[in-house]
Amino acid sequence: MGEGENCIFPMEDALEMFFMFDRAGEILYANAAARSKLGYDELKNQHISTLFPNIFRRTEDGFESAFPFGDGTGHLVIYRRNLTCFPVEARIKENAGCPGTYICMANDILEREHLGREISQVREEAQQASRLKAEFVANVTHELRTPVNGILGNVRELLDNVTDARTVKTLQLVERCCGDMNRIINNILDFSKLDAGKFILEPRRFHFRSMLDYVKAQHISRITEKGLDFFMTVSPQVPEYIIGDELRIVQILNNLLSNALKFTTVGEIAVQVLRTAQVEEKAELFFIVSDTGIGIGEEDMDKLFQSFSQVDASISRKYGGTGLGLSICRQLVELMGGRIETESRKGKGSNFSFSIWVEAEEETVPKAHDDVKAVFIQMAAHEENAGQEAEGVREYGTPENREALKRRLSRLVLSVEMENWEKAEMFMETIRQLTEGAPPDVRRQILRLKMAVQKENYDKVMDEYQKLCMCDADLFS
Ligand code: ADP
Repeated sequence: MGEGENCIFPMEDALEMFFMFDRAGEILYANAAARSKLGYDELKNQHISTLFPNIFRRTEDGFESAFPFGDGTGHLVIYRRNLTCFPVEARIKENAGCPGTYICMANDILEREHLGREISQVREEAQQASRLKAEFVANVTHELRTPVNGILGNVRELLDNVTDARTVKTLQLVERCCGDMNRIINNILDFSKLDAGKFILEPRRFHFRSMLDYVKAQHISRITEKGLDFFMTVSPQVPEYIIGDELRIVQILNNLLSNALKFTTVGEIAVQVLRTAQVEEKAELFFIVSDTGIGIGEEDMDKLFQSFSQVDASISRKYGGTGLGLSICRQLVELMGGRIETESRKGKGSNFSFSIWVEAEEETVPKAHDDVKAVFIQMAAHEENAGQEAEGVREYGTPENREALKRRLSRLVLSVEMENWEKAEMFMETIRQLTEGAPPDVRRQILRLKMAVQKENYDKVMDEYQKLCMCDADLFS
């Protein structure tokens, strides 16, 4: 039996050319790629020097070669049957699995370069397409934003001058629709930037609790309109000031709160913030936004954070939305080094939690404004039956509610002790929002009080309080 006769050839379908030859230089096997590229039906029994005449020389007892056999590769020229040639990158070594034989593997350099060029051309085309798409989205969203803001501006101007209740209601609806439209436009813009990997975070130092108050102020009137309870708890371990992308943290919270509000009709919405880790000047903050709304079935959980996905078509018909919000939240949270997760039970409610890493000094208990002790607010109402069944009133700011207050309360004095000025300001902002539809004199009082509740101006607040104590303001007449 000759050398190589019992060897197995696993390279038949390989893309690179593969040859096996013996000590005499006689080819024992060539795979399909080698046969077709070199134009042979059969290469068996050809001499290796026929293929590589520049580097192999036929001798009486076999061949001589200047090529360094082993695991290294070298550039050779290989000849076809029709005596044309092309360059290859080749490796030739002794065949350990079949003693007395050699194997040669060769790649067509021109073909590989051509393939490489094709790949980079396809990549370039894809990048160009994605650039065009991003530009298109940026242009279209800009074009959409301009008229929406135009409508918004005019509606706000009209709102300042109109007194008829029905017109005010209609204008407020238009204002709200414009706000929703702006949110969708911004979502599309953010999504396209995140998708193109062009999203850059802009961290800066900001007061964390004021940011939360700002978020709360944006939702509180809708929450109370729906008769829901709202709680916001921030652990004292959360630093007063942090360095992070405030706008984007607000965006995530707004998204989660809008969803909570959208999908909850009874019960409560709560936000909780904790500091879960501190590594040198970096802190991990953990947020939980929970609601007692419709919840999400287990089978739909994996769809939540995918782009354009809503749990089911009936939900999107009933509640609207683009299915982009949670996907954007996930990408923003990940950019901030964290994770977003959901726990939910259908019919019971949902918890959306996320963590982010921010820069923060290692402080434990908030120190600023500790000296601020209390803000007193007096609200008075002329009623006959003071205090009766007041707990039955849950919806605030509605005409029925005001009617109920009128009947049941003669005078309501709220003495609210606040931890810090931000909370006092927030409280006044909430009152301002709740009394938006109230008669002008009530709104003026509230505005005066709100303006007085400023960090610098504790005395002024106390003055207002004294004045309010003295005058029996007819707030709800
Ligand atoms: P959309 O803009 O449509 O609300 P999101 O990505 O924010 O898109 O949400 C995707 C889907 O996840 C929603 O359509 C809804 O089905 C579900 N979902 C999100 N938040 C809640 C929640 N708090 N309670 C119940 N379902 C929710």
